[in-house]
Amino acid sequence: MSELWDAIIVGAGPAGLMAAARLPGLRVLVLEKNRAAARKLLLSGGGHCNLTHLGSARELRARYGGHGDFLRPALGSLSNHGLQAFLAGRGVACRAEPDGRVLPASGRAADVRAALLGALGQAGAELRPAAAVRTLRALPAGGFELEVPGGPVRTRAVLVATGGLAYPRTGSTGDGLAWARALGHRVVAPRPALAPIALEDADLRALSGLTLPRAGLSLWRADRRAERTEGETLLTHQGLSGPAALDLSRWARPGDRLTLDLLSPGAGNRELARARVLDGFGRAGARSVRTVVRALTPSERLAELFLARAGLSGERKAAGVGRAERHRLADLLCDLPLAVRGVGGFEVAMVTAGGVALEEVDPATLESRLIPGLFLAGEVLDVDGDCGGYNLQAAFSTGHLAAAGLRARLAP
Ligand SMILES: Cc1cc2nc3c(=O)[nH]c(=O)nc-3n(C[C@H](O)[C@H](O)[C@H](O)COP(=O)(O)OP(=O)(O)OC[C@H]3O[C@@H](n4cnc5c(N)ncnc54)[C@H](O)[C@@H]3O)c2cc1C
Repeated sequence: MSELWDAIIVGAGPAGLMAAARLPGLRVLVLEKNRAAARKLLLSGGGHCNLTHLGSARELRARYGGHGDFLRPALGSLSNHGLQAFLAGRGVACRAEPDGRVLPASGRAADVRAALLGALGQAGAELRPAAAVRTLRALPAGGFELEVPGGPVRTRAVLVATGGLAYPRTGSTGDGLAWARALGHRVVAPRPALAPIALEDADLRALSGLTLPRAGLSLWRADRRAERTEGETLLTHQGLSGPAALDLSRWARPGDRLTLDLLSPGAGNRELARARVLDGFGRAGARSVRTVVRALTPSERLAELFLARAGLSGERKAAGVGRAERHRLADLLCDLPLAVRGVGGFEVAMVTAGGVALEEVDPATLESRLIPGLFLAGEVLDVDGDCGGYNLQAAFSTGHLAAAGLRARLAP
């Protein structure tokens, strides 16, 4: 006879661990395929773990690309403040960066993991590592059977918190999506998100390693601006990375046109940015075009790129550059056209867009509307957020709410 549990949680990532910590008094087993829990959490924020973001509930919900309403009850169950209080209660103080990102004050993702594992132990849940679940079956009389190394296990209710498909080397290989499909759920086609953007533009790629502290990126479709992001942008040998590019990658497709706005975010708006360029020429006197352009760009090599794209020789006297040429340069500095070759795959994407379709999951409990006793939390759901802590917050909040749903389902 296989073991019988009240609840089995599949996946010891942020969502699964948070849920396990919230189920004291129940017989709870957490099955994790890796030898250690939360490998992806350890990598998050470059190891510093940007676990949430400052802002009101409404501001947070706006960062999930149209799926924020589904998260209303989850973010109500565990808000950004609630998450910080949860961690503070377990010895992990948090600090906020000037841009609103929240991290553990120690700067160590490992401290967040330790707090979660401590809370799981306190709640009396059992964590079984190196226990990859192969199949998940709903039993005709209710409950579930899971096939794991060492023999099947049975449970009254199950929480699938197996993540998506991003960074598969951390264990997230889409298993939960396959089970959900097999159980009759619709799965919105998963695609990589928060991934670097590869560009056709060899001249920009040649500047790999350069950081633009504040740039704007716009995505154009059929001559209409479809999306715009703003923030730090890194130039890589493939194209673009950094928060602004990662956020834009949620929408970018091969063949799309992008424009990079080097000046408007810093200047305040586009008109002021253009005025800065024209003013730079107006005051240049006998100085060279190169000197004027260099003063507007963060690096010499980038200044050369703009000169080349504008077809201007850097040696020319700025005063001799005509009106049309000045305007062309101003246009380029605010709208450098770029062509998308592609968006990095799941190997390099931080999150998965798509997942278990939300209309088949009750947002108030995170229980499947199709299979009673089946709960879903974290990135396995069709929810993905911007860079800045929103994805971990969603994982923690949905794990927190799913635990309440499980408890209600199991109540006598
Ligand atoms: C490099 C990197 C940096 C990131 N940085 C940030 C950041 O700073 N801020 C932020 O908000 N987000 C960040 N993210 C995204 C964030 O880490 C994820 O959104 C979050 O971890 C999702 O949590 P989860 O619990 O849903 O899934 P996961 O963290 O993917 O955990 C799922 C767990 O399930 C286990 N599992 C899968 N299949 C099985 C199976 N068959 N049997 C047993 N166990 C299984 C996996 O091994 C894994 O441990 C980052 C992601 C990456 C890749």
